Amino acid sequence: MPHDILERFTKEPKIAYFSMEIGLRTEIHTYSGGLGVLAGDTIKSAADLRLPMVAVTLLARKGYFRQELDSHGRQTEAPDEWNPAEFMTLLPERVGVCFEGRPVLVAAWLYLVESATGGTLPVFFLDTDLPENEPQDQELTYSLYGGDPLYRLKQEVVLGIGGTRMLEELGFEIKKYHMNEGHSSLLTLELLKRFKKDIEEVWDERLVWDIDKVRSLCVFTTHTPVAAGHDKFPYEMAEKTICGVIPLNVIKDFSGPEALNMTMLGINLSNYINGVAKKHGEVSQTMFPGYEIHAITNGVHSYTWVCESMRRLFDKYLPGWANEPEIFVRAGRIPDDELWEAHMEAKRKIIDYVNRETQSDMNHDTLTIGFARRATAYKRADLLFSDIERLARIGEGRLQIIYAGKAHPRDESGKQLIQRIFQMRERLKDRVKIVFLQNYNMNIARDLISGVDVWLNTPLRPLEASGTSGMKACHNGVPNFSVLDGWWIEGHIEGITGWSIGPSADVSADSAHDADDLYHKLETVIIPTYYNDRHGWIKIMENAISKNAYYFNTHRMMRLYVTEAYIR
Ligand SMILES: *Cc1c(COP(=O)(O)O)cnc(C)c1O
Repeated sequence: MPHDILERFTKEPKIAYFSMEIGLRTEIHTYSGGLGVLAGDTIKSAADLRLPMVAVTLLARKGYFRQELDSHGRQTEAPDEWNPAEFMTLLPERVGVCFEGRPVLVAAWLYLVESATGGTLPVFFLDTDLPENEPQDQELTYSLYGGDPLYRLKQEVVLGIGGTRMLEELGFEIKKYHMNEGHSSLLTLELLKRFKKDIEEVWDERLVWDIDKVRSLCVFTTHTPVAAGHDKFPYEMAEKTICGVIPLNVIKDFSGPEALNMTMLGINLSNYINGVAKKHGEVSQTMFPGYEIHAITNGVHSYTWVCESMRRLFDKYLPGWANEPEIFVRAGRIPDDELWEAHMEAKRKIIDYVNRETQSDMNHDTLTIGFARRATAYKRADLLFSDIERLARIGEGRLQIIYAGKAHPRDESGKQLIQRIFQMRERLKDRVKIVFLQNYNMNIARDLISGVDVWLNTPLRPLEASGTSGMKACHNGVPNFSVLDGWWIEGHIEGITGWSIGPSADVSADSAHDADDLYHKLETVIIPTYYNDRHGWIKIMENAISKNAYYFNTHRMMRLYVTEAYIR
């Protein structure tokens, strides 16, 4: 019975982690990219560390989308359905929200994240696909980031307000609400309502709202280093969808005079606000003057992102690593040849997969570069093609490149990037092999990131708030070759843990310069080291583990959230 399951969780107060997307495993299609995977990794580390936490998200029955690419790299999107009943249990409780005066019921599916350490963490996936609801409301929890702004706002009502009500209905006492990005900020309104003071006569009606109480309960993490990237909704829309929680004029005090700005709402009602890397904390501080913005650098869940062959190696030489990633500091104890062989096993796996999928005849011994993440303009997936003659000359017979990534259905320039990679693949055909793997997901991510020799990242600074795929790479001894942005500013030691592209982080961005540096280092450092100094190369792999993976993991990150954000 679900309720016997829940009883052991409701006994002690919890931290409630809210995220629009959570990526726990490939088969549960409730993530689109880094934000969701980070949320999943956060939850897994919290379970390993037995932190008192619950998580709330939306069900996204039809997923984000399944990517199909034609021979020109033109992307089409198909629904990516999955069956919740295979993984989770529908609970009998229902809570209500209301849209345009119409009540809408919300249910929750319970998924249990079970850790090898004995920790268990409940995740609630909210669902409006109930026979009691009108068809248009049933669809609200179908697609992640789908639909028009009204659809999105309604989803955020279900997440923030519905989610908070659901936790109460299930019997939870919540001591902190952690908003992972602004999509769940509406939960602050539900809390304002819940803690409204019971005063008969006040000289200013605003005094009935216990703002300090709400703030003391809330933590907000921002992930977006540009103001335009923050969710905003017209107040006319908000009026119809947030009916009766608290009056609009009070909401405006927190979320801005012109439009309902979810980030402003979240940060105005939180007493701890943070960015996701040191640099991103600084960038956010300039975006939000007058607020105190902290920084907790992201991580990845070590056990999830280490491939099979490396797990065996770490178990042999670094026992205990999975629940104490600090042990990676001793990676120097791993013999060179065994580290190389574990890497080659992962490399053969991805190359064989690529060759099966794309008939591209890639080679096990050629230096292989990987690049995979959301296809969107600022990530500059095509920086490598700035001068294709130069790339061909440097890389001919010595380099092969594997790409993957989805573009958001409405991101035209992201879609064009994918097509451009397909065009370049044709042009470089006989000189540098390039493949683009379809439908990037967590499984492909693990095999790809662990199996390539170098992990490339070329964002336009300072737009990469943190980035996490490079952290997955270093967990597998794969060095990063990246623009100095996000986490890499903290993880990079030139020629020791990997290589930078372009100037230091305080110099403004210049694509031509970045491309030049990229080619120069490939030609003069990376390719020669790989082919002519295998010992030196393996040393860098070892450093990626001992100096990067030991720090950029979600175990360290969660301990910081506990001491910096949750228990102050
Ligand atoms: C880790 C991950 C990402 C994030 O990649 P970044 O390079 O940090 O943007 C995106 N998609 C999937 C499937 C991932 O596993």
